[in-house]
Amino acid sequence: MAEQIERIKTLIIGSGPAGYTAAIYASRADLKPVLYTGMEPGGQLTTTTEVDNFPGYPEGVDGPTMMVQLQQQAERFGTEVRIGMVTAVDFSNVVGGIHKITVDDSKQIEAETVIISTGATAKYLNIPSEQRLRGGGVSACAVCDGFFYKGQDVAIVGAGDTAAEEASYLANICTKVTMLVRKDYMRASKAMQHRVNSLDNIEVRYNSEADEVLGDQVVEGLRIVNNQTGEKEEIAITGLFIAIGHKPNTDIFKGQLEMDETGYVITEGKSTKTNKPGVFASGDVQDKEYRQAVTAAGTGCMAALDAERYLASVESVAEATS
Ligand SMILES: Cc1cc2nc3c(=O)[nH]c(=O)nc-3n(C[C@H](O)[C@H](O)[C@H](O)COP(=O)(O)OP(=O)(O)OC[C@H]3O[C@@H](n4cnc5c(N)ncnc54)[C@H](O)[C@@H]3O)c2cc1C
Repeated sequence: MAEQIERIKTLIIGSGPAGYTAAIYASRADLKPVLYTGMEPGGQLTTTTEVDNFPGYPEGVDGPTMMVQLQQQAERFGTEVRIGMVTAVDFSNVVGGIHKITVDDSKQIEAETVIISTGATAKYLNIPSEQRLRGGGVSACAVCDGFFYKGQDVAIVGAGDTAAEEASYLANICTKVTMLVRKDYMRASKAMQHRVNSLDNIEVRYNSEADEVLGDQVVEGLRIVNNQTGEKEEIAITGLFIAIGHKPNTDIFKGQLEMDETGYVITEGKSTKTNKPGVFASGDVQDKEYRQAVTAAGTGCMAALDAERYLASVESVAEATS
């Protein structure tokens, strides 16, 4: 017998800080949210050992612990957290319309509102030593982890605006920043290049790539290869930052939602509204600017409030016309 289609009020897709914060607010507002965790329960913060900048943790907290606590807080108010991956969506174009969602290619759900909090995935070089030392000195977030390398020598890989921005950020904290640029020029804007070049403690190395990250448990150095000459050189560093971009997790929303040229969901003005009525987006999936846990949580709160107001307006229209 075919499985029955489940009808729910609020579906939250994603279990990072945005999804769980949306869940806390939505469940307290009696929107009876069901949250699907996706392939990375707890989101990106589960890949980091120390979160030092989330308000409310004076001694810092490790990422996985913080995310378990957020989940518990959401469950305390009745959020139903389920393991599963949303694999397809069919969003309604009509105010008050029902959104159809497929989970794990089989289960069908109909939801009155949907909050998308699927995040973005940092790109890595994917060399074995880099993967082994993730969390041991290799990071994809200078703003998050730069502080741990205060007064030390670090390197950053990347050539775009974000890499230039993060190199400048690190230069304020660290003794020396070696910036590896694969080509013989930087992609970053002229203004950002100027900022990088004006800082004495940033050394930009063109035609240069990371060959191997050195160190057993933690980063101790980096072997750099010149991709023109093949020449290799080792430098001593304690931190390696990868700033080669992020990929928003929006493949399943293509053709359904308005996105920018890099695939981030576009939201309306200061709200979390997407171009589909009753569908809201929060966290890194709609924010390529700040990408922090606290900003993701903030927009998660906004999405739940937007969803609550949307449902209230739909209900009042229905009452007035009945
Ligand atoms: C190494 C590292 C260290 C960091 N350290 C800090 C820090 O110290 N402080 C800080 O503020 N920020 C830090 N950040 C950034 C922070 O992790 C992100 O800004 C934040 O996690 C974004 O939250 P989010 O909820 O938008 O998305 P994410 O945390 O990316 O979560 C996305 C969620 O969506 C789920 N998902 C995706 N697709 C689907 C689908 N189809 N169906 C169901 N679920 C799906 C995933 O499983 C995941 O649970 C760090 C990031 C990295 C990579």
